[in-house]
Amino acid sequence: MNILIKNGRLVSAQKMEDKEILIENDKIKSVKDSFSDIELPSKLKIIDAKGKYVMPGLIDAHTHYQLVSRGTVAADKFYEGSVLAAFGGVTTVIDFADHLPDKEIAEGTIHRNSEATGEMAIDWAQHQVITRVDGDVNKELEELKKLGVTAVKIFTTYKNAGYFIEKDPVKEIFKACKDLGILVTIHAEDDDIIEANSKQVENKPYPPELLPVIRSSEAEYRAIKDYGEIAGSLDMPIYIVHLSSSRGLDAVRELKADGVNVVVETTPHYLTITNDFLKKEGAQKFLMTPPLRESADNKALWGGVVSGDISIIATDHCTFTLEQKFQSNDCRTIFPGVPGTEEMLQIVYTDGVEKGLIDITRLVSLLSTEPAKAFGLYPLKGSLEPGTDADILIFDSAKESVLRNDNRHTVAGYTPYDGMKVKGRAETVILRGEIILENNEFLGKRGAGRFIPAGLSGAYTK
Ligand SMILES: [Zn+2]
Repeated sequence: MNILIKNGRLVSAQKMEDKEILIENDKIKSVKDSFSDIELPSKLKIIDAKGKYVMPGLIDAHTHYQLVSRGTVAADKFYEGSVLAAFGGVTTVIDFADHLPDKEIAEGTIHRNSEATGEMAIDWAQHQVITRVDGDVNKELEELKKLGVTAVKIFTTYKNAGYFIEKDPVKEIFKACKDLGILVTIHAEDDDIIEANSKQVENKPYPPELLPVIRSSEAEYRAIKDYGEIAGSLDMPIYIVHLSSSRGLDAVRELKADGVNVVVETTPHYLTITNDFLKKEGAQKFLMTPPLRESADNKALWGGVVSGDISIIATDHCTFTLEQKFQSNDCRTIFPGVPGTEEMLQIVYTDGVEKGLIDITRLVSLLSTEPAKAFGLYPLKGSLEPGTDADILIFDSAKESVLRNDNRHTVAGYTPYDGMKVKGRAETVILRGEIILENNEFLGKRGAGRFIPAGLSGAYTK
């Protein structure tokens, strides 16, 4: 479609300016103060964005749509996940492919892409999980890179769920990733500390409120330090997913002071809500790993965002229905994860920009440009540069609303932010030149999303 967006305030990670933006077919054609009639194609839709922000489509760099794990499947499948993402102004997500049993690493991505293709209504890229080293890891990772996957994920915990991997193979993976320029991302919680904490409360019930005791901030601190030091010793970058605690942030700062290149992501839930919810009725709805912390941690993490130690906000969207969630009241077996992609923009705008902690250019940086750079999608995604994909979010910052269990698009049927007053709404969302959301109505198509092969992570070039 050809679209002219007029009268809006363009926001990138660097600047704000009052300019017009011309989209031709699926690309941004040009950005100018104004266009004369002869410059415009004859078939043209004009969008008046007066009083609104026009920014690159958001990227949720951490989602688990249709996750198959622990004997169940996550509630939001690829289609549902991508629709709710559009309501949140998100035009690209980066999801995770499992390391399949008895298969080479890259088979996970091939399988995952085959499931997502024909379902996703927005674009996606992949991270690949690695849980073991069987053969020639260099060769296997080379195959992965050829598919356009340039980030892998390592777990330092979850022995029971089959994700944990020992330190020796981890070092092998780190070395191979450095050779190939693949970014290693880490779920950082030290398993030995978690085991020791668990033993102390053995033979007692394990209610949800115990999870922050077992999966302590200290466990996060230790794992970040240990794996960060491995990366530092190999002179390679490392990416920490979903940082949850003030102690974890201490570890990040200590590594940075030692010259380690650490890229850090946190989530809206670690920034805004606390483990008070784990002490109340319905605690299961608020259980994820790492667990929710204290309000002092919320504050410290915002501090990390403001200081720049945290450069990316993503959601770890991983949903289960109430029926799934309430199958257990044991914090070790409740399916972990909460909805988030749809709420990400409104929460970061309300708690970050409205409260004066960050400005709107930084919001674009945290939710679009930096994830695009870290995961090799920039400038195709995450920018308003001419020639790149016309993924655009028109954001109305004046709109006020209340997040409620019954006004969400997740199949989970609830939101951990129920009752929260928010400012701002994704007014219009454009994916590669097609309007997929307008006036709170989803206009996209099942299967219109594409897999976006990633290039080299920006973490390797700075
Ligand atoms: Zn995750």
